[in-house]
Amino acid sequence: MSRRSFCEHCRQEVNYLLGSTVIKEEFKGNQYEYLGQKAVCPRCRSELHAAEVREHNLKAFSDAYRRVNGILSLEKIREIPHRYAIGKRPLSLLLGWGAMTFSRYWQGELPTRHYAGMLKRIYDDPAFYCELLEANKDKISELAYRKSKQKVQALLAHNPGISSQLDRIIQYFLHRCEDITPLALQAALYYAQGFYFAFAGEFLFDADCEAWAVGPIYTNVYSSYASYRFDPVEEAGSFDTVVLSNTENEILDSVARNLCCYSGKTLRQFARLEMPWLQTRKGLQANVHSNRIINRELIGMYFTLVKEKYNMLTPADIKAYARALFEQVSK
Ligand SMILES: [Zn+2]
Repeated sequence: MSRRSFCEHCRQEVNYLLGSTVIKEEFKGNQYEYLGQKAVCPRCRSELHAAEVREHNLKAFSDAYRRVNGILSLEKIREIPHRYAIGKRPLSLLLGWGAMTFSRYWQGELPTRHYAGMLKRIYDDPAFYCELLEANKDKISELAYRKSKQKVQALLAHNPGISSQLDRIIQYFLHRCEDITPLALQAALYYAQGFYFAFAGEFLFDADCEAWAVGPIYTNVYSSYASYRFDPVEEAGSFDTVVLSNTENEILDSVARNLCCYSGKTLRQFARLEMPWLQTRKGLQANVHSNRIINRELIGMYFTLVKEKYNMLTPADIKAYARALFEQVSK
């Protein structure tokens, strides 16, 4: 694509440069803060108009709006028919909606609160979808029912006893990393969340973490494993990575390889160098306990900037960042 725009200041057409910028925007009484792009004149550094930047920022705003309001991303909405082997029209009928309603959301219309809640529940919970399919099978063709039933049963068979996305991620790390302690598990979740956002543009799981003195802590997860204290957590049962998407697998693998190789003690020093934890604890002494929640958007922005700064092309490049942190804490 040609990256040309007219610079009023230099009074000529220039090849503009692209950079990241934090955008703050008010919409329907709420403040949204997200990472967008800007086009800059290479000579005078003033900001220029560019169609691709406008388009990019519209999408970035829509994504931020969806995240803050608990609405599935467009990518996830579009994944639903494939996930359950069901057409858009039959899916609408199963939900008791107008025949075209799901298609409208598939095309990008923002669902209202009630519809958004249903879409999210269906996406997150195959068992719920399965119930819906059973209860409403009369509304769709026999063939559509059978195809979808087969798909959702296969999906459920791979997930015995694992109820949420966060559970899946925890099980992954417990099975993948030998001798992982509760603190190292916390760090693994935090980095998985951050880097997944940087590479995939959305969050890996819904839970928020708090900025404790020891680092970012997912409190529910913490209380489940608190009894292990500084000992490795014992994993139970088996785990099949088939329940994860390719992108999830690549990022979790890189986090396991490049970050979980450090002790919980070292990992906790890493987080203390990073903006989301520092900014959330502003004004607090290093060892004071705090339940302040680290804003997820802050985590997303920070790791997106890390990805840019380290020119990461694939999740394997997380290695360079982990090394740089390690060098800093071992000085
Ligand atoms: Zn200029």
